[in-house]
Amino acid sequence: MTATLDPEYRQKLLDRFLRYVKVDTRSDEASETSPTTEKQKDLSRMLAEELRELGCDDAEMNEWGIVTATVPGNHPAADTIPTIGLIAHVDTYFGTSGENVQAKIIESYEGGDIELNSDQVLKPADNPNLEKCIGHTIIHTDGTTLLGADDKAGVAEIMTVVEWLRDHPEFEHGPIRIAFTTDEEVGKGTDHFDVEAFGADYAYTLDGSDLGEIEDETFSADTANVTIEGHDVHPGYAKDKLVNALRVAAAIIEGIDQRWLPETTEEREPYLHPYIASGNVTKVDLKVLVRAFSVEKLHEREEHLKEVIAKVGERFPKARIKVEFEESYRNMSYKIREDPKVLDYALEAVERIGVTPKRQAIRGGTDGARLSYMGLLTPNVWAGGQNFHSVREWVSLEWMSAAVLATLEILQVWVEKSA
Ligand SMILES: [Zn+2]
Repeated sequence: MTATLDPEYRQKLLDRFLRYVKVDTRSDEASETSPTTEKQKDLSRMLAEELRELGCDDAEMNEWGIVTATVPGNHPAADTIPTIGLIAHVDTYFGTSGENVQAKIIESYEGGDIELNSDQVLKPADNPNLEKCIGHTIIHTDGTTLLGADDKAGVAEIMTVVEWLRDHPEFEHGPIRIAFTTDEEVGKGTDHFDVEAFGADYAYTLDGSDLGEIEDETFSADTANVTIEGHDVHPGYAKDKLVNALRVAAAIIEGIDQRWLPETTEEREPYLHPYIASGNVTKVDLKVLVRAFSVEKLHEREEHLKEVIAKVGERFPKARIKVEFEESYRNMSYKIREDPKVLDYALEAVERIGVTPKRQAIRGGTDGARLSYMGLLTPNVWAGGQNFHSVREWVSLEWMSAAVLATLEILQVWVEKSA
């Protein structure tokens, strides 16, 4: 890495991050409310307030806990420069405790094991990125909670960008819109996101992991809803009559090609993932996630599932089996390819700060994928966090600082290409 962030802002970035991780902002998958937990607003409120202190007069939090703010363009030709959105999410993962987070800091990591507590140790063998972070400031947990770098690293980075811009009026940029969203971890991060009101032409989420990572591809995703109707009869008198929907479901699950499961695939391979089966002898609802990068591969997997169901249907002719495919989201690269400069400028900016950009495909979805289909192209930039959703979560302050620099450089590239 050649360019480095001024030590003053590096310190401010750290202070912000440590302040934000103290706020428990776990969202809740089981909740029906919006936001799914009120406590997410504790951080949102803080951020809106801090943004106002940083000079964003219009900073506000809405009823869903989403914070928005504007950094007006200061370039003489600002109205010819596209408005760039910077987005991160305030909530953390519901499945791991996020209460009373005790962040620990190693000022200059020398390599080797990091003991979190008597049970939990971070080992370079399981965390190859630790070796790349020798000499860095490492922030980790006490091994009992998550850290919340996903995505408070992104939040702190964007806030530091805003502060840096306020202190450097000589740095000319176009209009910038900031958004901090809620409920990303439960897949509802964009449910109340008003793309039109946000008013950005292009955006970036700071929610990725490793230094240099730019993600412009996500899975394409469908859910298969399989309904199986059996025929219940008193089991003592069931010979040649009983059709057990549970056994039919088991046969379908077992019939799926073992080579195409989440536990047997990686990188660009698609999968089928039976993840919910509920019911009884009479009726079973089976849900299967279908995931692939291309829509063609997605449909291939769906055809396979249909074939499995047809075969099982022959074995259980009296069972009634139906399958319906429900679209969840599509690979955002289909959209980004229509106007690839949003990606190209980010890759150029990363190179300019002396980091090798790594284009990554996410084996999942992002808020950016949904936003891209809502009309706001939004690739994902690294935020630095490692071991997301785990008590072994950690982050390098240097990788966070590099994300701040990369974001500033992205703004610079947009000016050069547009003004
Ligand atoms: Zn995240």
